[in-house]
Amino acid sequence: MSLILAADIGGTNMRQAIVHPSGELIEETRSELALSCFGTEAEMIDAIAGQLSPMLQAYAVTAVGIGFPGFFDAHSGHLIASPNLPYIHHLPLAERLQARLGLPVSMQNDALCAALGEHRFGRGQGVSNLLHITLGTGIGGGLILQHQPWSGETGMAMEFGHIRIRQDTSARRCGCGNHGCVEAYASATAITEMYREKTGESCPAHFICRQAREGDAFARQLWQQAGDALGMAIAQCVIMLDIHHVTVSGGMTGAWDLLHPAIEKGLQKALIPPQQDRVQVVASALNDHAGLLGAALLACEQRL
Ligand SMILES: [Zn+2]
Repeated sequence: MSLILAADIGGTNMRQAIVHPSGELIEETRSELALSCFGTEAEMIDAIAGQLSPMLQAYAVTAVGIGFPGFFDAHSGHLIASPNLPYIHHLPLAERLQARLGLPVSMQNDALCAALGEHRFGRGQGVSNLLHITLGTGIGGGLILQHQPWSGETGMAMEFGHIRIRQDTSARRCGCGNHGCVEAYASATAITEMYREKTGESCPAHFICRQAREGDAFARQLWQQAGDALGMAIAQCVIMLDIHHVTVSGGMTGAWDLLHPAIEKGLQKALIPPQQDRVQVVASALNDHAGLLGAALLACEQRL
């Protein structure tokens, strides 16, 4: 039986799973991995290889697929940059890991991996074109066009979190340096920050979600604002691409009951009339495994 080791690397942790080519997850683990704590590329490679090693020893794995938060050049496959990791410059990360592990290693942007997983195994199955949004501490996007992943010329296509939904002078500052990006209104980080600015309390997004469900007016307003921002940003993608299927994964989908009505409202308000009521926005049904499954697909098919 040919098994894949899939990994989904985030800013602070790493999830791994042994995946059968059918999409069945055989074993899954999660560990801490603070990428920003490393000072050099070599230190980061050591840490990733070290964390993959127990699974590789325990199973007869034939290939490794990894989703990573960064931009991958479409031609060389090199990791050009990663927004919060200044020590990375044009790194042949897959090749370096391959040399360390002695197995084929495929890598791609984490949100694009999630789009691949959702398109093959999730609620994007059977559609030609899909916009997938990852909604967590940050916001990412992955695009499938004509059944194929589209990562752009330098891996930076569909940087959904940095679509600007406000241009006014009071627009919130985003981590990218611009003002008014959707990530500055709808990420878990943004919800937490806005709640702290108003109440003085630092609470995780899931707590603010509970507050909203229990009737806290300000907490409800934050989720409505987040949904409205997401709807407006999705509308910009639809206006540009005439794409009708949108899926959303990530920890923030735990607040889907609060977000979805506001997403629909923001979307319909911002679409041009002929496109209204044609776009379906749904939460992933893969229990947050879209990224791992997409990374496994990469390894199976070497398709990017
Ligand atoms: Zn931004």
